[in-house]
Amino acid sequence: MITNTEYSDVAIIGGGVVGSALLYILSNYTSVKKIALIEKRGAVASMNSNSMSNSQTLHFGDVETNYTEKKAIETKNAAKLMLRYIKKHKDAQNAVKRCQKLLLAIGQDEIDYADVWFSSAKHIYKGLKQIYSGEIDRLEPNILRHRDPFEKVSAYVSDTGYMVDFGKIADSFVNNSKSKSKKVKVILNARLDSVRDDDGGYMLYFGERRIKCRSAVFCSGAYGLYFARSLGMAGNLSVIPTGGAFFTSRKVLNGKVYRVQTGKIPFAAVHGDPDINNEHKTRFGPVIYLPLGLERDELQISDYARAAGFGPDFISAEVDILLKYKLTGMMLKHLSYQIPIVGKELFLNNEARKIVPSLKYEDLSLEPQYGGISPRVIDLRDKTLSIGEGKIIKDNLIFNLSPSPGASSCLSIAKSDAEHISKAVGEKFYSEKFNSDFRIGAD
Ligand SMILES: Cc1cc2nc3c(=O)[nH]c(=O)nc-3n(C[C@H](O)[C@H](O)[C@H](O)COP(=O)(O)OP(=O)(O)OC[C@H]3O[C@@H](n4cnc5c(N)ncnc54)[C@H](O)[C@@H]3O)c2cc1C
Repeated sequence: MITNTEYSDVAIIGGGVVGSALLYILSNYTSVKKIALIEKRGAVASMNSNSMSNSQTLHFGDVETNYTEKKAIETKNAAKLMLRYIKKHKDAQNAVKRCQKLLLAIGQDEIDYADVWFSSAKHIYKGLKQIYSGEIDRLEPNILRHRDPFEKVSAYVSDTGYMVDFGKIADSFVNNSKSKSKKVKVILNARLDSVRDDDGGYMLYFGERRIKCRSAVFCSGAYGLYFARSLGMAGNLSVIPTGGAFFTSRKVLNGKVYRVQTGKIPFAAVHGDPDINNEHKTRFGPVIYLPLGLERDELQISDYARAAGFGPDFISAEVDILLKYKLTGMMLKHLSYQIPIVGKELFLNNEARKIVPSLKYEDLSLEPQYGGISPRVIDLRDKTLSIGEGKIIKDNLIFNLSPSPGASSCLSIAKSDAEHISKAVGEKFYSEKFNSDFRIGAD
């Protein structure tokens, strides 16, 4: 039985870093009065935005050799918004640490590939420098220690190395959204069950509670697509939830070491880096797997089927994508890393020792508490897999799907959503204030 109905101008469903960023932007840079952030768990950023779930990298695109020029520029501009936010808010400064960041090319093929990539990317990343063995040895001695002397390596060092606890950033967004002149509500432990059109707005149902809103923005990962499909708005979009797990060792790296990604595979190659909350550890990952559910602790195949729109089109697109992007070999390799006992040996030899050749079997452990699930976006008609975000916009509804580098780009995603939504509900977006606070156009 429904007990009461609350009202909100804009309801944001999902309190990860993207939903929290939107709460911050709507409350500080628009004239929208009543905003609710609704999260089914007991705290914001409990899923992919939590520091245990992701690689904690503020992505600028300068170690991602699989990005197009457009994606690289967008990613860099989005990351700059995050840096400016952090500069402006003291509570966010505890959530970030500068760190060294290298891009490592191993063997002649990767070195050649990286050289070509670098010549096209250096105008975007003026601070990215090619370094040679003496400098690599000084910055990351374990990259060269015990390496086969005939194996060639080259590296690039970036000037934009930051590790970020995106969970703490989400907390900071929420803290800095409180406003005397507006009603900003954060509703925790409220799981959205269904959404319906209601008299020019939407009615959101949460067990015995319901919220009426003029506009709703779904920042609930793959569950956004689940609700979009229930309203007949998913169109050609679908998802392949893609898990990323991590091995850890004692500290063997000083900073982040990314590897060259040859080809246009839309996944990061395995990298090694410190944990912002435990710098005595080095993490190696992600190890990719394909879960039969949408969230780490909610592996329900029925929700996956509903969100993805299982059927002949989905199967045909998935098969095409596996073949087109040559993903089958990579997937089988990564699946083998999760086989008990032998998986660790395979991961050690194929991945971790490529970065730190002196690592031993007993140094590594697969950490069950680390890792998350990204909603990889696919287009069922074009049979393509995108690198990065997917979005469905219709009038006063938005559904966001934000795989990596979604945490780095959260303010950029939130800004474009806030512009659209404020217009859709007849309110203002304060672009001058936004541009001045975020120093848009200043450099
Ligand atoms: C292995 C891995 C490594 C990554 N590394 C990086 C990285 O280094 N840098 C980077 O920028 N990005 C990285 N990412 C991506 C990044 O984690 C995501 O882009 C980001 O966390 C997405 O934020 P979000 O708010 O959309 O999703 P989430 O943080 O997952 O939040 C979604 C929220 O919606 C809530 N929710 C879902 N359904 C409902 C419902 N029915 N009712 C109410 N609430 C609901 C969930 O509880 C959850 O809190 C990585 C991802 C993975 C998996």
